[in-house]
Amino acid sequence: MTTAPVRPSAESLAEFRSTVRQFIADHAPGVVAREGHRAPVDAEQEAMLRSWFAKLFDAGYVGADWPVEYGGRADYHPLRDRIVSEEILRARAPRPVDQVNLAAHVLLHFGSQEQKQTLLPPIRRSEHVWCQLLSEPDAGSDIAAVRCRGQRQADGSWVLDGQKTWITDGHWADMGLALIRTDPSSSRHHGLTVFAVPLAAAGVEVRPIRTVGDAIEVNEVFLNGVRLPADSVVGEPGQGWSIIMTGLDYERFGIGGNVILLELLIDDLITLAKAGTVDGVPALQCGDIREKLSELAVEVEVAKAYIDDHVERMIVGADEVGDGSIAKLSFAETYHRVSAYGAELAAATVLDGPSDSAAHGAKQRLRECWLWSRAYTISGGSSEIMRNILAKRRLMLPSR
Ligand SMILES: Cc1cc2nc3c(=O)[nH]c(=O)nc-3n(C[C@H](O)[C@H](O)[C@H](O)COP(=O)(O)OP(=O)(O)OC[C@H]3O[C@@H](n4cnc5c(N)ncnc54)[C@H](O)[C@@H]3O)c2cc1C
Repeated sequence: MTTAPVRPSAESLAEFRSTVRQFIADHAPGVVAREGHRAPVDAEQEAMLRSWFAKLFDAGYVGADWPVEYGGRADYHPLRDRIVSEEILRARAPRPVDQVNLAAHVLLHFGSQEQKQTLLPPIRRSEHVWCQLLSEPDAGSDIAAVRCRGQRQADGSWVLDGQKTWITDGHWADMGLALIRTDPSSSRHHGLTVFAVPLAAAGVEVRPIRTVGDAIEVNEVFLNGVRLPADSVVGEPGQGWSIIMTGLDYERFGIGGNVILLELLIDDLITLAKAGTVDGVPALQCGDIREKLSELAVEVEVAKAYIDDHVERMIVGADEVGDGSIAKLSFAETYHRVSAYGAELAAATVLDGPSDSAAHGAKQRLRECWLWSRAYTISGGSSEIMRNILAKRRLMLPSR
């Protein structure tokens, strides 16, 4: 049985926060984070991001929860992780790639000794960015419907074929963690295997998808007879389902840090409303705008309160079935509603000041956040799927 880590004192957390804040001010690259525009746009930006991520690992601010022998911190506590995420988001500095975190935890838990020794150090040096090769055109919410296939060859190597889609960062990732059907007679969550796939391998073709926000964030990835050595299998053949489910648990834990994004949306709404006019009237003098801002601020506080409480309960192992789905729903749906109003206000508000003012920045961000907001209600489990989980597992409602 694992025991909950000793909770750091409030003073030590405050001190940690100010050290992290200073570190970000000193080392973050000159790339302002934009929602829906997280991937680097050129080689120069990519080099800056890789160097920034390597610094975060080096300082022990990312990957702190890894075992100490692989670079983790002896004084690791999830609250410190949360502080790091919050400070990066607040500073609008580029945030580490979630999929790298997932791959690292899968390797730490299920990788062979050799895989850990060869694949983990390049992650910490940020030489290897990983992506997650799970979804397929007919296997998204229903990930057990995976059809990409892997055939073992006489010499023990494997040949992979099929198509993955919506792959975040696939166009600049070096490695992918792929869920592949290796037993052709199997169905659903049986007969699946996880592979570590170098994206430079012969037969891997990456086709970027341009998003509505005019960015390349996600990609189609085709596996055309990709030959991989036997030691590319992570864990055992056929163990794929439980490996990926364990990995996705880490992804869900990340929602706690993201809650700051809701506060930033409210900040932007207020900045814009304070500076602009709507139909010639200062926005803040319009009763309906004041009312809506207050309503959304309450919604954000409620989502934050739930998510904060959920994080605290997860830390001590006291979370309940369905809590993660409520947290994901609260975050994603609140983000969508607040940003949708943000886009509406941005369209209605006239700004007279200089175009580089804080209010213009807020206006642009609110539009971008709205365009990106649907991504949060889909990726990592859609809102409908979260509601299904709640209905079945928490409320124990019968299936229709
Ligand atoms: C921005 C973004 C990044 C992503 N990054 C990755 C990545 O890096 N790697 C990766 O593998 N995948 C990634 N995905 C894919 C993501 O996991 C899937 O899009 C998601 O699981 C939904 O699957 P789908 O798109 O096939 O939609 P579908 O599963 O076809 O769903 C379509 C609609 O039907 C609803 N629906 C489906 N089943 C049910 C049901 N049983 N009951 C009620 N409603 C249902 C869904 O909620 C949705 O509204 C990403 C997606 C997005 C949007």
